This record gives sequence, C-alpha cells and structure tokens, in this order.
Amino acid sequence: TEAHVKAVEETRGLNAYIVETPEIALKQADASDKRRASGEAGVMEGIPIAMKDLFCTEGTQTTAASHILEGFVPTYESTVSGNLWNAGAVMLGKSNLDQFAMGSANITSHFGNVINPWQREGSSAELTPGGSSGGSAATVAARAAMAATGTDTGGSIRQPAAFSGIVGLKPTYGRCSRWGVIAFASSLDQAGPMTRSVRDAAIMLEAMAGYDAKDSTSVNLPVPRYQDALTGDIRGLKVGIPREYRIDGTPVEIEKAWEQGIEWLRAAGAEPVEISLPHTKYALPTYYIIAPAECSSNLARYDGVRYGQRVEGRSLDDMYENTRAAGFGDEVKRRILIGTYVLSAGYYDAYYNKARQVRTLIANDFKKAYESVDVILTPTAPSPAFGIGEKMDDPIAMYLNDVFTVPASLAGLPGISIPSGLSSEGTPLGLQLLGRAFDEETLLRVAGVME
Ligand code: GLN
Repeated sequence: TEAHVKAVEETRGLNAYIVETPEIALKQADASDKRRASGEAGVMEGIPIAMKDLFCTEGTQTTAASHILEGFVPTYESTVSGNLWNAGAVMLGKSNLDQFAMGSANITSHFGNVINPWQREGSSAELTPGGSSGGSAATVAARAAMAATGTDTGGSIRQPAAFSGIVGLKPTYGRCSRWGVIAFASSLDQAGPMTRSVRDAAIMLEAMAGYDAKDSTSVNLPVPRYQDALTGDIRGLKVGIPREYRIDGTPVEIEKAWEQGIEWLRAAGAEPVEISLPHTKYALPTYYIIAPAECSSNLARYDGVRYGQRVEGRSLDDMYENTRAAGFGDEVKRRILIGTYVLSAGYYDAYYNKARQVRTLIANDFKKAYESVDVILTPTAPSPAFGIGEKMDDPIAMYLNDVFTVPASLAGLPGISIPSGLSSEGTPLGLQLLGRAFDEETLLRVAGVME
C-alpha cells in the first residue's frame, strides 16, 4: 500500500484521481495486516485499488466528476465498494471520470481530463485513456493502483480498458448491485473490475458481485469462485464472429487484431463460426435515445435542494435553473435536453417507445446467436486511443466510439476487453468477448487463453 500511495503521488500528472485518500489506505492496510495475521484474509486482502468517483463512499467526497456534487460527502457506502472493503481491499482514492459517466474520452470531467500513460511511438502528444472510467484505466495502466472499479453503461469499462492496455469486465446486468452508484441510465448501468490481468478480474468480480435486496434489479444467484473458471481449456467452444461488426472505415490494424484473435482461439482448439446480429446498426441510435432519456429522469434530483451545490435565485424555479445551469457541464446538459425531448408528449412513441422495441430486437439477436455459439469475439473500439482534443467538438464522432460496446449493454449481457497487441503507433488495442447472461465464467475462461 505504501508503494502504491507513492506511485499515485508520482503519477499525479495523469490527473487520474479527484481525491487521493492515503490516510484511509494506510488504515485499511493496517487492519488487513491484522486480519491476515489471524488467518481471516478475504479474497482482496490488502490490495490497493482506485474507486471510480461514481460510487458513494461514506465520509469521502463523491462527485461523479460534476460541479453540482462538489463537496457532497455521502453518509452511506455503495454496496459494491462495501463488498470490496469487506473482502479486504484498500482505497487509494476516488478516480476521475467523465461527468456523470457521460463520455468516451474523460474530457467532460469538471476536474479536468485524464491523460493516458501510453503515448504514440516517437511522440509526446497526450492521448485520452478513454472514458468514462478514464481515471481508473489510467491509474491501473500506470501501475499506480493494482486494480480499479469501473461502471459501464454503454462501454465505459471496456473502451477505456482497450485504450489503456488493461482488462475491463462489464458483468451481466444485475450481477453487481447498483445501490449507492450514482445513476446515469438505470436499465444499463453496471459496475465491474478494471485490472492488469484476467485472473485479477476474476478475483475482483467475486468480491464485487452478489445479490443485494437494496437494488430491485439485483439478481439472486450464487457468486461462483470465478478464478476456478480459468482452466486454460477452451477446446470445442464455439466463438461467434458477427458479420455486422465489420464496419466500413474501421482501420486495417483493428481488423488485423481481430483476425489475430480469431487465430489464437482456433489454435487453442475453439471453433470460430460466422454469425449474424442483424439489428446491430440500430444499437448506437437506440442507446443514444434510451441512455439520455433515463439520464434526464435520474438527474432531475439535482435541484439545489437536497444535494451539493445551490445557486440562489429570486424564486424557487429561478434557483433550480441557476443551480442546474452552473452545476452541469455541456455534455450533461445536451443529454438532458435530448432525454426530455424523446420523453415528451408527442415524441414519446416515435422515439423512446420505438427505441425500446428495437432494444428487444437487439436482445433477441443475441439470444438467437447464443443458441449456436458460446461466446462472441469483436474489437472493443473502432480505433486505438486518440489525442486529447480530437473529436471534442463533434458529439456524433465521439458517440461512434461506442459502436461495438453498446449492443451488449442494451441486451444486458456480459463483456470483457482484453489487451490484444499494439497498433502501428505502439498504442494498445483491445478485443472484446461477449457472453451469455450470467455466464461470466466462460468469458473469463476464453479471455484467460487470449492473454
Ligand atoms: N460513452 C458512452 C456514453 O457516453 C458510455 C458511457 C458509459 O458507459 N458510462 O454514454
């Protein structure tokens, strides 16, 4: 823990943390030593991690990287962070993210953007670590934290993992409790581990997962010992290669990495099978209706009355308006506007209801595919890490980053991003494996072979 506290200090230039919590870390580490000495070690005993600043942590400021929650100190602990402390993990700090987890480059944070520790060969230009879990990805990639928590609504664990050369696992919707995680889009949000290795992801998921009566969408299934799934044997497994993920304009090196991944799995005895997920092209527009719709409703609670910042006004309405105008960043406002529009009378059926119907079609595509394959292999993102500043003025170009990650989010299915070599510029590439609902074990087993 001491070494990691020091590493966090030494990598401050990455802006990976909103708050560092060395006193808490050292106190937890002491308690860990005692538990270890008395033979009561948990699965994460003494492991120093970063906690994405979207998880409420009792007594430690929790902001969702927004100005509106600046200074908000929760009086309660999120279930997932509580599970991790119970398993012995140690908190190095609250990691930076896109504001309210909305973004793909960690540039919408009120506390400034995060810098990827990776650079292009022969260049010192700063690259984005991806987003929204950019702080978590950067600090793990820089080896300042042994692991970190992330949340994934449409790719926010998997895409930053790919950009930063680490492993990121989005579990099945319902696997990890959402209680105490600041809500973005409640039917999509899911917490998961961001780690250096597949085995670490298995260990951390075991600590994070589990039924929680406080989250009505939490699923009551036993939590397996995920590490036991890493048998190294994937002979006979069928790996789906979805035709619709071959998108025009995807860089050749992403295609190549994908081909390489297919070859690795074939060499290990699995059988690649071409499949079709016909509604894939509707996933991105569907997501960018459903996620903003839910966000506009979830963020209505930030009214200057109950949480965080307040900016006074001449009337109550005036106070709401001033508070929200000053408290939310541009991207958050854009989403609230889109969300309230698609939910408004007259447009509800045309946009929101239509999106919900298409969401079912997307989920059915996967259901059908999993009748004949065990996992699906795709690229995680359509490009390697890009420069900070790029795509910033073009929300649509930014949303396109999520093209490979949102379909599984809409279907509630688990996905993992695994580092898969380097781009021609020497930056990390990631491949994504998708699995059946609540079958994180097969995902981990296959991912373990690709590492
Ligand atoms: N990039 C996507 C978005 O901006 C996904 C974010 C997330 O998964 N939290 O909505």
